[in-house]
Amino acid sequence: MTTIAFLGLGNMGGPMAANLVGAGHTVHGFDPVPEAVKTAQANGIETFPTAVEAVAAAEVVITMLPNGALVKKVYDDILQAAPTGALFIDSSTISVADARDINAKAAESGYAQIDAPVSGGVKGAAAGTLAFMVGGTDEAFAAARGALDPMAGKIIHCGATGAGQAAKVCNNMLLAVQQIAVGEAFVLAEKLGLSDQALYDVVTGATGNCWAIETNCPVPGPQPTSPANNEYKPGFATALMNKDLGLAMDAIADTGSRAPLGTHAAQLYKAFAEQHADLDFSAIITALH
Ligand code: NAD
Repeated sequence: MTTIAFLGLGNMGGPMAANLVGAGHTVHGFDPVPEAVKTAQANGIETFPTAVEAVAAAEVVITMLPNGALVKKVYDDILQAAPTGALFIDSSTISVADARDINAKAAESGYAQIDAPVSGGVKGAAAGTLAFMVGGTDEAFAAARGALDPMAGKIIHCGATGAGQAAKVCNNMLLAVQQIAVGEAFVLAEKLGLSDQALYDVVTGATGNCWAIETNCPVPGPQPTSPANNEYKPGFATALMNKDLGLAMDAIADTGSRAPLGTHAAQLYKAFAEQHADLDFSAIITALH
């Protein structure tokens, strides 16, 4: 079994680290927030006062942090503190440019490193069913499998460094557009006198079907487990969708791409996040009436 350092024991990182303990790995954790540390300790993670101490004996170092600036700062602190041969895995959602930057920094210090962002949310983190999108070399991908497996339902090697983050940013831009489009369809249906249930039954068996209606249905009733039935408690918070769309807009600018729908979705979510950052992102339907 492997000694794994886990930095960032928040909503996602906490349960992910707990699943590594459950699989028999030794997990050395660090998080600056005392409540996160307390929960981690209760889940069998050995915690340390600093990130540098947490990585000192690690064969694998996983980061699950809020943003790219923080990941870069943490890498500056811990690179060289880990033993020779340690493998670095960053599962935070950050820009492709930042992912390539930290990979280069790790390589300069002699470490293999992959980007491995996830989809599946807090539920998937707790259940150990996250989808991992990995960017990195074949060797680093193969070496990471044992650490990723207990946290994963699916692991896809998307390509070279940054490809995991590229997949994540494209998926979430697509999801944002779909969630808005599903909201527009329910609003129009209501105005045409069609019931929510009838629209749901038709679309989920027809060509308009997608996760944004089938699982994350934005009106209460047709899909009883969707956040709309629970006052739009996330789920996937609007603040996080807004963050991911910011990364998508940066990628569009960097690459000179055109994405008229993605760009409009980013504008709508930016405005919605100013008032409703904590609601599930399906609540955007309430701004479409
Ligand atoms: P979170 O804010 O709950 O957790 C982040 C943790 O990092 C916090 O506990 C914080 O104290 C800790 N932290 C801050 N600075 C640190 C440092 N220097 N060293 C170690 N720990 C530090 O966020 P989250 O929801 O767990 O998300 C983490 C990442 O996963 C983000 O990049 C997010 O975009 C991504 N993500 C989140 C979800 C989701 O549904 N929550 C889904 C997919 C991806």
